[in-house]
Amino acid sequence: MKLHWQILIALILAVLFGYFAPNATDYTSWMGDIFLRALKMVIIPLILSSIISGVTSMGEGSNLGRLGFKTMIYYLGTSTLAILTGLLIVNLVKPGVGVELGFTQSVEGLAEQAGSVKDILYRLIPDNIVDAMAQGTILSVIFFAIVFGYFITKVDETYKNSLKTFFDAVFEVMMKVTLFIIKFTPLGIFGIVAGEVARNSEQLANIAGSLAIYSLCVIAGLLIHALIILPLIVRFIGKAKPFAHLKNMATPLLTAFSTSSSSATLPLTMEALEHKSGVSNKITSFTLPLGATINMDGTALYECMAAMFIAQAYGVDLSFTQQVFVVITALLASIGAAGIPMAGLVMITVVLTAVGLPLEGIGLILAVDRILDMLRTAVNVWSDSCGAVTVARSENEETTVAI
Ligand code: ASP
Repeated sequence: MKLHWQILIALILAVLFGYFAPNATDYTSWMGDIFLRALKMVIIPLILSSIISGVTSMGEGSNLGRLGFKTMIYYLGTSTLAILTGLLIVNLVKPGVGVELGFTQSVEGLAEQAGSVKDILYRLIPDNIVDAMAQGTILSVIFFAIVFGYFITKVDETYKNSLKTFFDAVFEVMMKVTLFIIKFTPLGIFGIVAGEVARNSEQLANIAGSLAIYSLCVIAGLLIHALIILPLIVRFIGKAKPFAHLKNMATPLLTAFSTSSSSATLPLTMEALEHKSGVSNKITSFTLPLGATINMDGTALYECMAAMFIAQAYGVDLSFTQQVFVVITALLASIGAAGIPMAGLVMITVVLTAVGLPLEGIGLILAVDRILDMLRTAVNVWSDSCGAVTVARSENEETTVAI
């Protein structure tokens, strides 16, 4: 049976198991923990070897610049489109108007976790690369790997060749390790999802009224972005078949949905793009690790809709200029959010602070964050993968999804 069918079955069984036997999930959650640990284990060596091997095969410096430029345009462009879609829906439906403010949950300490825009910039340049790797600060590792890879191309031919062969080889090995871990995805996902369902099902069953409408609005926005806007970009700018590509991405997308973590899904995303959609390592190595960290269309859309929902709930009518502010800060918040569960929720504080809304407002949407996090993470990963295909095609690379 194909892996994505196995995963889908595991997901359904996990929901049933978590719902009907919540206490028994104590005995299955270890499968999820081990799966996540294994994925995290490969992330740093995979990113490092993949970027170094990709950058060294790019040759001239101008290639790197051109690729970087295209990638950034795609990332910023699609995230902004996602935010505008969210803004439109939330202004049309107004799910927050008339919300009961009484049942706000407490959210102490959330603002401190978010960090400032300056922090994001600082995170780019590590003061200690070993520490950055140990802490899993992906942005720092990406930066170091690009610099290292670039300067490999500047050294003596003998050194260059041996270093290139070395990192190519490490990358091949890491891909093999990833492929091995992927085999266990159905078991891992069963462990994770059963546990989550057991923890959250009661809370979810009681969600009604405005919160349900708000959730449906977010889901509608995410679906429009994922199934209409991004496919149009892949089709007309990337000159590739979006739905053939979507099929290839089934395993990473289901994993993103189940784990709520773009970073943990990264090894699977890379594997699917290279081995199924046929995108070269030169492109994936550069676009995907960066994308998993800064390109979060689903999160961007969510930041905007959540902030607007909170404004509506508090009866604050945001002016046009303030809404422009929401758009800009939502974009920054999505860039700054780490690829881990609930990072987007923490980052909403940035948006709320910018337009002077009370931070307690986050307590209103806490109950539905988990389920929306799963969906927005899948959209985040889907956008990264569409970006890789679009950039590859714009470089005239052949892929298996090319038109
Ligand atoms: N969980 C999301 C991700 O990993 C980030 C978020 O919370 O929005 O992509």
